[in-house]
Amino acid sequence: MNSKETGDRIKIAVQKSGRLTEHSMDLLVRCGLSYSRGKDRLICYGENMPIDVLLVRDDDIPDLVQEDVCDLGIVGLNIIEESALALRADGASRLFDQVATLDFGQCRLSFAVPRGTPYRDAGSLAGKRIATSYPRTVSDYLERNGVDANVVVFSGAVEIAPSLGRADLICDLVSSGETLKAHDLQEVATVLESRAALIRTPVELAPAKARWVERLLQRIEGVLQVKESKYIMLHAPRAALKEITALLPGSEAPTIMTLEGTDDKVAVHAVCRENVFWETLEQLKEVGASSMLVLPVEKMLA
Ligand code: ATP
Ligand code: ZN
Repeated sequence: MNSKETGDRIKIAVQKSGRLTEHSMDLLVRCGLSYSRGKDRLICYGENMPIDVLLVRDDDIPDLVQEDVCDLGIVGLNIIEESALALRADGASRLFDQVATLDFGQCRLSFAVPRGTPYRDAGSLAGKRIATSYPRTVSDYLERNGVDANVVVFSGAVEIAPSLGRADLICDLVSSGETLKAHDLQEVATVLESRAALIRTPVELAPAKARWVERLLQRIEGVLQVKESKYIMLHAPRAALKEITALLPGSEAPTIMTLEGTDDKVAVHAVCRENVFWETLEQLKEVGASSMLVLPVEKMLA
């Protein structure tokens, strides 16, 4: 039976074209997925796993997952939060699950005022007109801080609202801060720290699908761990073992092996869950380590 037709396949919603697209596809490829792109270029068909990728606008991803059109979705926490607030306000009984946070798409949702405007704390927002594409998140923030202000919804180009006289300040996504600078705006407070995350349908999956999702989640966890991890091998004087293992960044119990023909030296092998920098190697050398080798880790499964 060809599972392509049976609805047994997992559908993942990914941003069609934008800041998250390349990272999202790269993550899936690192999880072992190889795919071919459909003629309409809106679906990528997994060739070696029962997984298909739907390419959509990022704003549509939470709803697609909430409505079980897709089983999984990769989207920013900023969009997740805004959608979750909308769904809760609409009385949704069960919400999509956030199952993992990922290591890309970092940005923050921040208030920014025209340079020189005084700002002390949330109280300074009282009575102001705030332009944003995240009205629910901003309103929720205002409510939590007991502040009354006017939220003006902009679907794009939020940063031009103050110079157009449409708002007193903005609340928008910032990463480097260059866009704000170019519009003479100054970041004053952060509402939300965001990064990409993986969400899952609120509907229970059939067992075969559930197993694949579980498998994919494990692989994603492995991919995230592996990126920083290094395998380190070195020779160490037995007497300096304690000092040496203490210097290995983020390593669990290292493997100690005897070296043929010597009693006072051993070989140490360890997985370091953090990058190993030259400085660390130099410190290791100082306490007696030699023949050091640092290797990238390709795959990891706990
Ligand atoms: P779409 O056409 O899919 O709606 P978009 O224009 O809304 O695209 P992008 O600008 O590609 O979206 O941003 C996608 C996501 O990338 C954001 O929702 C956010 O999570 C993340 N991101 C990271 N850094 C930034 C940034 N500096 N500005 C905007 N978004 C950022
Ligand atoms: Zn969008």
